[in-house]
Amino acid sequence: KAKKNLNTNFEYYAPEMEEETTWRLDMIRQLTRDFEAKKLQLWYQPQVDLVTEQIVGMEALLRWPTSDGCFVSPVVFVPLAEYSGLIIDIGIWVLEESCRKLSALSAQGYTGLRMAVNISMPQFRDPNFIDTVKNIITKFGVEPDRIELEITESVVMDEPQIVIEALQELKLFGVKVAIDDFGTGFSSMSYLQQLPLDRLKVDRSFINEITPGKSAFIAETIVTLGNKLGLSTIAEGVETREQASYMLKLGCDEAQGFLFAKPMPYEQLLEFLAAQDS
Ligand code: C2E
Ligand code: MG
Ligand code: MG
Ligand code: MG
Repeated sequence: KAKKNLNTNFEYYAPEMEEETTWRLDMIRQLTRDFEAKKLQLWYQPQVDLVTEQIVGMEALLRWPTSDGCFVSPVVFVPLAEYSGLIIDIGIWVLEESCRKLSALSAQGYTGLRMAVNISMPQFRDPNFIDTVKNIITKFGVEPDRIELEITESVVMDEPQIVIEALQELKLFGVKVAIDDFGTGFSSMSYLQQLPLDRLKVDRSFINEITPGKSAFIAETIVTLGNKLGLSTIAEGVETREQASYMLKLGCDEAQGFLFAKPMPYEQLLEFLAAQDS
């Protein structure tokens, strides 16, 4: 917030900026400490086939517990982890933990499930990124096509060449690629031709409105675009029955949202999967 006002009155805003910087450094220090103390958690939100409503996979989502039993939102701490570079190590742990759990699920008989993992820009800048991803997937004996990397449009636009090349190589290895929050990046469509994509995730902001209106038209357009490009589509943030049937009617393949399940710890995911079986 202070940054925006940089050119108006620096002296006036300087104390506020200092406060913000201190806050940020404190948070980064605490996050680093908690990450090293293995206090970060990975939760899982089921993704369902819209026709059968069977679970087809899940998205791995970071959780940072505080001492008072609450959680710091990833919307707050992921940008700090990106800013500090800590996201590279956290990202490695997220991928390892995802593969560990996927392989445990497979051993329990849940063999067909897919795990979506969010990837940030600094991870692509890490020269070891491609090898790290391949090594982790191999180490845990996971079929590469069970892992789906989720990247946002802004990641692609930031440094298209690095991202396109990395994804092309990882695609050859077998992993899947999805564009997250699709439609919010407000960016060029040209990368849709260059990226080796498998799926578009229709952003939650277009799902909210199911009556004819701008959001609904955008959701419809994204699903149509995905279908025509031969990509599968998933709606994120589906909270109501109406939204689910509307997205199904549009031809959207899958959904993820509170209607079906909230993100949950692994133990709870196991119970959720078992309940679906019976
Ligand atoms: P995202 O990747 O778009 O994840 C989806 C977010 O939508 C999650 O928020 C999820 O809890 C929330 N959500 C799902 N269904 C619903 C719904 O029906 N209603 C509402 N209101 N929300 C729903 P969360 O877990 O707070 O994560 C926020 C963001 O933090 C993620 O957005 C992602 O950008 C980032 N993030 C989380 N985990 C990781 C990670 O391991 N690595 C990286 N790089 N980023 C992560
Ligand atoms: Mg995501
Ligand atoms: Mg998303
Ligand atoms: Mg989102």
